[in-house]
Amino acid sequence: MLSQRSLFLQHVAQTSNSPMGLEISRAEGVYLYDNAGKRYIDLISGINVSSLGHCHPSIVEAVQQQAALYMHTMVYGEFIQTPQVELAKYVTALLPEPLNTVYFTNSGTEATEGAMKIAKRFTGRTDFISFTHSYHGSTQGALSLLGDEYFKSNYRPLLPGVRHIRYNTLEDLSHISSNTAAVFMELVQAEAGVIVPDDAYLKAVRARCNETGTLLVFDEIQTGCGRTGAMFRLETVGVVPDILLLGKSFGGGLPLACFIARKEVMGVIQQNPVLGHITTFGGNALCCSAALASLRVIKEQQLYSAVVEKAKLFREHLQHPAIHKITNCGLMMAVYLDNFNHLKAVIEVCLEKGLVTDWFLFADNCMRIAPPLIISEDQIIESCSIIREALDIVYGNR
Ligand code: PMP
Repeated sequence: MLSQRSLFLQHVAQTSNSPMGLEISRAEGVYLYDNAGKRYIDLISGINVSSLGHCHPSIVEAVQQQAALYMHTMVYGEFIQTPQVELAKYVTALLPEPLNTVYFTNSGTEATEGAMKIAKRFTGRTDFISFTHSYHGSTQGALSLLGDEYFKSNYRPLLPGVRHIRYNTLEDLSHISSNTAAVFMELVQAEAGVIVPDDAYLKAVRARCNETGTLLVFDEIQTGCGRTGAMFRLETVGVVPDILLLGKSFGGGLPLACFIARKEVMGVIQQNPVLGHITTFGGNALCCSAALASLRVIKEQQLYSAVVEKAKLFREHLQHPAIHKITNCGLMMAVYLDNFNHLKAVIEVCLEKGLVTDWFLFADNCMRIAPPLIISEDQIIESCSIIREALDIVYGNR
């Protein structure tokens, strides 16, 4: 009989030749357990998703209750679904005016696509600006925005009219013009290895968009929902975008994302043509119930308030000669090593020792650290000690 791993390799589409290939049978809190019962600390939250840890009782209960009522009733936008309405009300109440209208999608990349569409319609323009090393998703509009040639060159032709400018570089803002429909930007460039821009720069981007009548889109798919030490990073920087993208941890572990804008901007998809953006499953009742439960816990327990201290603790305990530098914004961290081969080896030793970590799409010498926000001090100290041991083994005890 073929092993589960063989069946996985044979029948499930592979995205690389080297999948991590862990087989998890259950997960709880910050821990994942494989088939043999081995325990792993999850230091990456399924890439920035499981912010409350795994199987948080409030999320499990919300999903179970909703599953017993209904799951799917009708395509998006037709029926009044209480979980959707409650979530839209809750999330917009957490956001500054005028971000008051939510369109729910299944994934982050669809939120990007929807935002591109409303920006085109609202401004009557077709050009976009994004940044080198930016990531906004893998579908073809989002791929056009992506700021890395390797990942997109074999998928051309992509959308015309997209220009990539340098992140955190004031001189390049002159490329934002009266032809630009929207600027898409992450508030921290995640896949580039956690690059944190200056607040003054973000304010300058806003000012340039105002000058040119360009919509500003903040992609908080990784930075949102408590990860950086505030509910949303836009609060910390004091800049309000025209469109906000949320995803990943937003769904509390289920597939949900959204784009949020003021009613006037969102209104363009209602007519000419009617049904300007359609999804069958976006805003699914189960996903919205999970998202609402998750946001409530984050807000009510102010889980973001301990994030900065927890990040500090990581920094204190991640001192090792092989570490060149660490960048972070709250619990989004990149630990810089010298090269990919060493990092890969360190990640493998960490796995053997019961710790799951990863690298970044455009920074393959950087170890990704983005644990569930509920990680305890002891778990942080234990994680760092495993990483240091792995570094000792890979680099030799120096
Ligand atoms: N934006 C950012 C900043 C992301 O990190 C991601 C996912 N890595 C996306 C968009 C796309 O989200 P999804 O994978 O859900 O399509």
